[in-house]
Amino acid sequence: MIHVVHHPDYVADAPGAPQSNPLRGNPAPARSTYQWNKNGLIRDLLRAEGDRIAWHRPDPMPLAALEAVHDPDYVAEVLEARVPPAKTRRIGFPITPAVARRAAIVPGGTWLAAHLALKHGFAANTAGGSHHALHDTGAGYCVFNDLAIAAVRLIEEATVATVLIVDCDVHQGDGTASLLAGRIDIATYSIHADKNFPARKARSTLDVPLADGTGDDAYCATLERTLAPLLDAVKPDLVLYQAGVDPFAGDRLGRLSLTLDGLIRRDRLIARLMTSRGIPVASTVGGGYGNDALAIAQRHVAAILTLGAAMTGAP
Ligand SMILES: [Zn+2]
Repeated sequence: MIHVVHHPDYVADAPGAPQSNPLRGNPAPARSTYQWNKNGLIRDLLRAEGDRIAWHRPDPMPLAALEAVHDPDYVAEVLEARVPPAKTRRIGFPITPAVARRAAIVPGGTWLAAHLALKHGFAANTAGGSHHALHDTGAGYCVFNDLAIAAVRLIEEATVATVLIVDCDVHQGDGTASLLAGRIDIATYSIHADKNFPARKARSTLDVPLADGTGDDAYCATLERTLAPLLDAVKPDLVLYQAGVDPFAGDRLGRLSLTLDGLIRRDRLIARLMTSRGIPVASTVGGGYGNDALAIAQRHVAAILTLGAAMTGAP
């Protein structure tokens, strides 16, 4: 059984017309790059897997846990759906009441996936990986940073002593890195396209910038060479994994050249590095962009099923 966390409110309606494209820093209105139906398609594809999947529904993240990471004034702006235009431009869409509700539940989903991973070895949230969200604003299609919020709550409630956030999205996990800078109990790893958004990078515990066009073999070799020593140094009780599929060659916002097979190799490698060390993994969805929402959802589901099968021996 692969344990999957999903909430009906993850599937939000598109909140009005698309704004600028924050991941490109494009001031002009762009076509909608953010796929609002992605989470619904991920749910449908996982439902088709039948008994392989055990479903779990999260609660919203408590206010105190949101405020432990984000500026309470920003948290209030989001929850009351009154985020000022300068911030919604940076996020890439307006914060409607439905988007606000979703933003509070997604971190609850990542936190629940972590608890399920500690019990079963692996669990997946069908949303999340909002790694660009910063202390007092969202950015790059991210409202609240579910990875940082979940990690801090897991530490503060003494569920675990050490967490490592492994971010394989093609964009650097700048929000996660800056929100958690200086903590000795939460480490951050980001492997990303160096020339991609954000232009100004934050400093993770370990950053692995890649050249444009990096392909399957070089990507997987670099991932193993850099992540294995970090795992042995940090010895985390849990890994929160940002499994973005935007390193895919055809991704509209990626600059790398991984094939679908390369993404699957990446996730098998992640599973091998963790299971060989007895480290449970909770995965989040992360980025994946383009016109074909179904193809993107299929890549996200491939990541969940690859990790689930490799980490738990599920069929
Ligand atoms: Zn991304």
